[in-house]
Amino acid sequence: MLDVEKIRADFPLLKRKMNGKRLAYLDNAATTQKPVQVLEAMDDYYRNFNANVNRGAYRLGGESTEKYEAARRNIASFINAKPEEIIFTKNATESLNAVAAITCETAQRGSTALLTQMEHHSNIVPWQLQAKKNGLKVRYVKIRSYGALCNEDVEEELERCPFIFSFTHVSNVLGAVNDAAKLCRMAKKAGAYSCVDAAQSVPHMDVDVKKIGCDFLAFSSHKMLGPNGVGALYMRKELQETLPPFLGGGDMIKSVSFEESTWNAPPYKYEAGTPNVAGAIGLSAAVDYLKKVGLKNIEEHEKKLAKHCRKELSPIKGIRFHGPREGAGIVSFNIGKIHAHDVGQFADDEAVAIRTGHHCAQPLMKLLGEPATARASFYLYNTEDEVERLAGSMRKCQKALG
Ligand code: PMP
Repeated sequence: MLDVEKIRADFPLLKRKMNGKRLAYLDNAATTQKPVQVLEAMDDYYRNFNANVNRGAYRLGGESTEKYEAARRNIASFINAKPEEIIFTKNATESLNAVAAITCETAQRGSTALLTQMEHHSNIVPWQLQAKKNGLKVRYVKIRSYGALCNEDVEEELERCPFIFSFTHVSNVLGAVNDAAKLCRMAKKAGAYSCVDAAQSVPHMDVDVKKIGCDFLAFSSHKMLGPNGVGALYMRKELQETLPPFLGGGDMIKSVSFEESTWNAPPYKYEAGTPNVAGAIGLSAAVDYLKKVGLKNIEEHEKKLAKHCRKELSPIKGIRFHGPREGAGIVSFNIGKIHAHDVGQFADDEAVAIRTGHHCAQPLMKLLGEPATARASFYLYNTEDEVERLAGSMRKCQKALG
């Protein structure tokens, strides 16, 4: 059991009122609020340690570098990776673009990148861009009507020998949780690289890259209580030696001449330019916070809220839920013919923040036959009372527009 009121006290923004009502922030799949521990860690860095990393020979530069590398070690151990297997990026999107760029560049012309129909645009568009550039194809494992993947469909696609299988661990629309370890084993057996979009899993559940056995795994800091503008890419150590870099510039080189360059040792080979040091430190503080509360407790709390949410919304006339009943802490729905944006407006009138729209998953929306859905997504600081306030606003919405 989480002490939610104690947790909420750490989040200044959650004290805000909207229209005189306590804010119920239920859009955590989009981004999360930040605890004082994260804000203070970043403030302390800029006040007391700011200097460029891996460059200066002076003491302050050394201290800054040590803080940056300590953040890398902490974040690596959070997902059971080696420190050098963590590459700092801007966000999950940049991590996935990096994987697409470096694997497509080395893939055989005509071969296929395999994705699924439940991907976020950030795990579709980079593959389309790179496929076009490198003469490759993109295929998708279909999703079944119950809103999840079926192993037989994955197997069938893998028989076509794609060079990579890149899939989401948790769908940001459906809340479906894919068995990442099993899918990676299947990909490996078929001779394909495996890449996990963990943007919606690393913040909410225990993720262990060794147990999953993936080659690549991507996530964003801002979805796990950390600051914006920093994310990570896990890349299995053996691959770092052979795959090419994706951005060129300072820090990622060993030597440069007018004709050619050689690369620094990984992970620096994949980190060009001055990194977001304060961001990495903020993410590390967020990791400490999540570890202290416990990922198992967080996961259980969110699942309980999602279940409560479905129960509270179920009696509403015309309600349609999307995705499996037993999923992560994400509930996507529509009410009759009411547009999702109107649904969102009724929630907002009660100071309840939910997401409405296509959730950066237009192909999936097309499959669902909905132009947009409303989505409530929960985190460690949400309460049953907030769920009930959402349900109350939805009842009002149905009465007024249904
Ligand atoms: N993948 C999934 C499943 C997501 O939900 C998101 C963000 N909504 C992303 C990738 C992209 O994350 P970011 O915008 O932080 O790069």
